[in-house]
Amino acid sequence: MGLLAGRRALVLGVANDHSIAWAIAKALHEEGAEIAISYAGPALERRVRPLAESLGAGLVLPCDVSQEDEIDRLFAAVRECWGRLDILVHAIAFARREDLKGRLVDTSREGFRLALDVSAYSLIALARRAALLMTAGGGSILTLSFLGSERVFPNYNVMGVAKAALEACVRYLAWDLGTAGIRVNAISAGPIRTLSAAGIAGFREMLHRHAERSPLRRNVSAEEVARTAVYLCSDLASAVTGTVVFADAGYHTAGV
Ligand code: NAD
Repeated sequence: MGLLAGRRALVLGVANDHSIAWAIAKALHEEGAEIAISYAGPALERRVRPLAESLGAGLVLPCDVSQEDEIDRLFAAVRECWGRLDILVHAIAFARREDLKGRLVDTSREGFRLALDVSAYSLIALARRAALLMTAGGGSILTLSFLGSERVFPNYNVMGVAKAALEACVRYLAWDLGTAGIRVNAISAGPIRTLSAAGIAGFREMLHRHAERSPLRRNVSAEEVARTAVYLCSDLASAVTGTVVFADAGYHTAGV
C-alpha cells in the first residue's frame, strides 16, 4: 500500500509537463493519493486537462489565485466532490518579466504588489479554505520556495522578497493551524528548467553555477523535489511543520 493511500490532494500550479507541480501530482498519485488539479486560467486547459486525466483526476478546475471568487469556487467544488481534503500543494509564483531582471530598486509599487499577492498571499487565502476541509485529523500544506528568499541572486529581485514573505507565511500558518493537526511546510528547490524559470534573466547561468558549486556537483530534477513532497505530505513527516526543507543538492550549505 502506498504512503498516501486514501488521501485526497489538491495540487495548484500545473502549467505543463515540466511544472514542478506536475511532478508532485504524479508522485502523490503513485503513492496512492487521489488528485484534483487546478490551473491558472482557461488558456492552460488544453495542456493541463490531458495530464490531469492521465492521473484519473476527478476534479480539474481553473483558479486564478488573485481572485477570491475563483478560490471560493474551487474549494466549493472540492467540498462537493470529496467532502474533505488531506493535502494542499501550492506551486505558484508570478512576477512581471521586467521585475525579474535589472535591479530590485527599480521595482514599481504595482509590480511588487502583484508578485507578493500571487506568490505569497495566495498561500494564506488557500490555506484558510483548505483548513476547513482538513477534518480527518489534520492535513498537510506544502509550498515551493527558493534560496533567493535569504540570499541575493541577481535578477531574482522581487521574487526573492516574495519567497521571504512566503517562508514567513509558512511559519505563521503552521502555528495557526497546528492545533488542528495541520502541518505547513515549504520545499526550497534548486533551479529547474520550467516555464516560470524561463522568465528569470540569466537563469541558464544560475543552473550552471548551481551544478558547479553544490556539494553533489549537479542540478536537481523535478522528480527529486516531488519525492521530498511525498515525504512532507506523508506520515513520515508527522512531526515536521513550519519548516523549509532544501531539495537543492546541498547548494545552500556551500561557502564557495
Ligand atoms: P511553472 O511555470 O510550471 O509553475 C508556476 C505556476 O504558477 C504555473 O502553473 C502558473 O500558471 C501558476 N500561476 C501563476 N500565476 C497564477 C495565478 N494568478 N493563479 C494561479 N496560478 C498561477 O514553474 P515551476 O518552476 O514549476 O514553479 C512552481 C513553483 O516552484 C513556484 O513557486 C516557483 O517559484 C517554485 N520554484 C521553482 C524553481 C525553479 O527553478 N523552477 C526553483 C525553486 C522554486
